[in-house]
Amino acid sequence: SLVTRFAPSPTGYLHVGGARTALFSWLYAKKMGGKFILRIEDTDLERSTQESVDAILEGMSWLGLEHDEGPYYQTKRFDLYKEVVAELLAAGHAYKCFCTIEEVDAMREAQTAAGEKPRYNGMWRNRTDHPTDKPYVIRFKNPQTGVVVIDDLIKGRIEIANAELDDLIIARSDGTPTYNLTVVVDDWKMGITHVIRGDDHVNNTPRQMNILAALGADIPKYAHVPMILGDDGKRLSKRHGAVGVMQYRDNGFLPEALLNYLVRLGWSHGDQEIFSKAELIQLFDLNSCNRAPSAFNTDKLIWLNQHYMKTLPAEQVAKQLEWHIKEQKLDISNGPALTALVAAQAERVKTLKEMVEVSRYFYEDFSELDADAAKKHLRPVALEPLQAVAAALSDLSTWTEASIHQAINATAEKLGVGMGKIGMPLRVAVTGGGNSPALDITLALIGKTRSLNRLAQAIS
Ligand code: GLU
Repeated sequence: SLVTRFAPSPTGYLHVGGARTALFSWLYAKKMGGKFILRIEDTDLERSTQESVDAILEGMSWLGLEHDEGPYYQTKRFDLYKEVVAELLAAGHAYKCFCTIEEVDAMREAQTAAGEKPRYNGMWRNRTDHPTDKPYVIRFKNPQTGVVVIDDLIKGRIEIANAELDDLIIARSDGTPTYNLTVVVDDWKMGITHVIRGDDHVNNTPRQMNILAALGADIPKYAHVPMILGDDGKRLSKRHGAVGVMQYRDNGFLPEALLNYLVRLGWSHGDQEIFSKAELIQLFDLNSCNRAPSAFNTDKLIWLNQHYMKTLPAEQVAKQLEWHIKEQKLDISNGPALTALVAAQAERVKTLKEMVEVSRYFYEDFSELDADAAKKHLRPVALEPLQAVAAALSDLSTWTEASIHQAINATAEKLGVGMGKIGMPLRVAVTGGGNSPALDITLALIGKTRSLNRLAQAIS
């Protein structure tokens, strides 16, 4: 059956490019009723960190990309890699190379001087006069003739002449395996049928296919996903601002929005923009992935975020909102239920972070009013309407949007003034500023006692 994998190196956070690759692998496995494996490629001991592993796991789980198997850690599989290297050596598919660093450097310099591409010249490929007391690396004996053909599921057919490929180091002088060897062994032993990864790896693929062939292993199908560009047309990087998945959480995006955004970066289905996860699983296909790089577009991500804030069940949005409430140190128990807050504010903001920023007055009292709003709306002429509306509100026996609405309207009618004369002063008095949801909703959520206290404060 079909098996895909996501194989990040834990040397930083889970960035959006990696997350998109993971999403494509996950979707393809789900669509085909296959299995999705998570493999942590942590063999670079100097650059790999536990924090990064944690960040990757956190990002995957926040996006809801659950793995069916793993996480496997390559550092726990060194014995296996060593066995395979020994096997290749015994079968004559690999050999010991005793070149010193100086010799390799000299080789490179001579080649460069002669206008050739620097590459290892195979000088130990057929030698048997092995010294016994010198360090050595182990190199794969790459075929010297013929072509490797990748039938890439996204990029189409790619051919590479073996003459272009030199003999790759598969084990270092300290015996540790190199990247291309560990990937090959794992893809083989884990039964990976479809390797979906960034196209920065496309140059490794013919080498990996040759090693797999030497091992007599089945060769998986490959799908290389084009890179993501920033809005300036350059490869997306830290320079472009947030590129870590959890950074988007921190900035107030819903996982549903980021997921929907990421899938459309490199895949399309007609001109449809909004996809539920279930729909994606049904519709996703590698054939309809773009061959060209896609450019990141923050406006579109914001648009999707707004869509999902408004349309997802409020409980689902509230679950994400809770994190931001805590982050901004608001006491949830001291104000309206988060589902009610979502209902009141979803239309009015771009992100969950912003939703909390503009909702502080629901959860805590303010000591100062927004100066501009107060100057504009709390002038002496506002005193009478405020007193009248305070009286009408205080008389209410039930505190609901409908009763509040009714009290405000009745006051305006009684005073013979338009809503404008009452509404804005009232808003500034109870929220401290000039922006809030509709007044009946706002007052209902703030609560009666708190609203009346704030009105009294403004009038005094
Ligand atoms: N560990 C590699 C990376 O993070 C990916 C290897 C692969 O997908 O084959 O770039």
